[in-house]
Amino acid sequence: MSSSTDNSAASVSNKKRPVIAIHGGAGAITRAAMSAEKEQHYLQALEDIVASGQAILAAGGSALDAVTEAVRLLEECPLFNAGKGAVFTHQGTHELDASIMDGRTLDAGAISCVNHIRNPILTARKVLELSPHVMFTGAGAENFAREHGQEMVGADYFHTDERFEQLQRAKSSESGVVLDHDGAALAASGSDDPLDADRKFGTVGAVAIDAQGNLAAATSTGGMTNKQAGRVGDSPIIGAGCYASNRTVAVSCTGTGEVFMRTLAAYDVAALMDYAGLTLQQASDKVVMEKLVALGGSGGMIAIDHLGNVALPFNSEGMYRGVGYVDEAPQVAIYQ
Ligand code: ASP
Repeated sequence: MSSSTDNSAASVSNKKRPVIAIHGGAGAITRAAMSAEKEQHYLQALEDIVASGQAILAAGGSALDAVTEAVRLLEECPLFNAGKGAVFTHQGTHELDASIMDGRTLDAGAISCVNHIRNPILTARKVLELSPHVMFTGAGAENFAREHGQEMVGADYFHTDERFEQLQRAKSSESGVVLDHDGAALAASGSDDPLDADRKFGTVGAVAIDAQGNLAAATSTGGMTNKQAGRVGDSPIIGAGCYASNRTVAVSCTGTGEVFMRTLAAYDVAALMDYAGLTLQQASDKVVMEKLVALGGSGGMIAIDHLGNVALPFNSEGMYRGVGYVDEAPQVAIYQ
């Protein structure tokens, strides 16, 4: 949905130092199970994608363009649970969700439960730009994508053998979908997958501030391994898994979607900053380390405030993440 409102904070008159942050999901990433080679693959992918976002910002591009492209690249990378490489539903299908928000105007677009759109984030961006609505779901979202020239693929495009095996393991595990990012529990399960095959979460996202001081956030996911068909998590819900306002902050979340929805986690960071005067670090720590935890929520978020400060809190064992200020080398990490 687009509008003509300009939400630029009065204080955003100075040129900001552009910066982008990305995540590739948080989960029970057991360090012991991560080979040096595999770790290097993840780090390199994160670094390359941060660099692509930095290049857009360095060339004077918008935060909205930078987060769109970063998330598109994360969707294209089979290492991460979004686009190609998305996890399977219990029924053996894929259902992808994505959302994007422009902090300058509060325009937003989202889609959910799609499985023929190659890059859900590009369709969410089209919804933001071209539709009077904020979210389309299922067949309606796919029709909207077709009408707007989005690249469509066969459902089997999203099939990867690794994710299919994860589904089989999740189905045979005691509790099916296990909402547990606990590394100890994972180790006890004997899983050798550093992405927590059977208790898999993961989502990708990006937040950025551009040279004009405009903020944007984008989030995309395949959801949770072995989820029931039709289940929608926080990722496409504006205010839960994605939020941006130039007044305060841009946020993209990853973790136990239901808890992020019940706490409106992304918007809560903005509200704590706006109404309670908390700093970015205080607000994001309060949400991730206290409010989510109180309801059993596990995961993390990436956030950039209207001053260009960055926070990357998570309460799980790790979160794939990267940050890059323009003209600086990207910084990437997985563990604490
Ligand atoms: N939040 C996502 C969901 O619930 C999953 C994740 O971020 O790991 O669909």
